[in-house]
Amino acid sequence: MTTTPEGTLALSAQQIRKSFGGKEILHGISVDVKKGEHIAIIGPSGSGKSTFIRCLNLLETPDHGTIDLHGERVFDAVEKTPAKSVRALRKRVGMVFQSFNLFATHTALENVSLAQRLVLERSKTDAVDRSEELLERVGLKKHMHKHPSQLSGGQQQRVAIARSLALDPEVILFDEPTSAIDPEMRVEVLRVMKELAEGGMTMMTVTHEIEFAKEAADRAMFLADGELLEIGPAAEILTDPSNERIRRFVNALS
Ligand code: ADP
Ligand code: MG
Repeated sequence: MTTTPEGTLALSAQQIRKSFGGKEILHGISVDVKKGEHIAIIGPSGSGKSTFIRCLNLLETPDHGTIDLHGERVFDAVEKTPAKSVRALRKRVGMVFQSFNLFATHTALENVSLAQRLVLERSKTDAVDRSEELLERVGLKKHMHKHPSQLSGGQQQRVAIARSLALDPEVILFDEPTSAIDPEMRVEVLRVMKELAEGGMTMMTVTHEIEFAKEAADRAMFLADGELLEIGPAAEILTDPSNERIRRFVNALS
């Protein structure tokens, strides 16, 4: 297991590059995420934030670079990654999307139970027990038999978070989890995420919610044009940015 003076590394991505149609979008981005750390990813639209976190669980295959999970090499761009390893990685690194991606024809409880049964091969009873416990944790137990269309955006996103947690991931990646939700419904989602972070979950969150990032993230990384402009303590970088580009961006949002 890889340790740094400050603790164990949960995820290490080194020199991640990605091109689409011959155009390089990520120019070699590296980050070391400690176990239990929460890193906010900030930056203008089109800077490569989604592409970067999608690379971290191989929804996009990096053209260059390596990914380690708890000291184990799980991806190296110079080798072909077998489909089996991709599936194994996706089990260990969960993802929560802006658009929730719940099954419309299934209830909240079924949405949370399904992957446990298919991916982890849990028994129906075990999957349902775990789902109920997680839906309780995100404040939705009383809505567990509703379908997504009967839930608000904020409630649907909390179901999606419960579904991700149900697979016991080592890291969860969030891509603008509150961007598609009405402002008054965001607070409950952010509260659940803050509790998760405080509970020791290792997380990376792409967000434009600067106040949330200051409060709930340990570090922030700022991407611009596919480059890592700065990484450091979230409160410091986002409260009084020394970098002019970050300052302008943060001021425009608040
Ligand atoms: P962000 O999440 O910071 O807004 P993205 O990672 O979505 O940025 O996109 C970065 C750049 O990569 C954009 O110019 C976008 O158009 C391009 N891009 C992202 N995904 C694809 C794709 N699948 N095919 C082609 N271009 C893409
Ligand atoms: Mg994006």
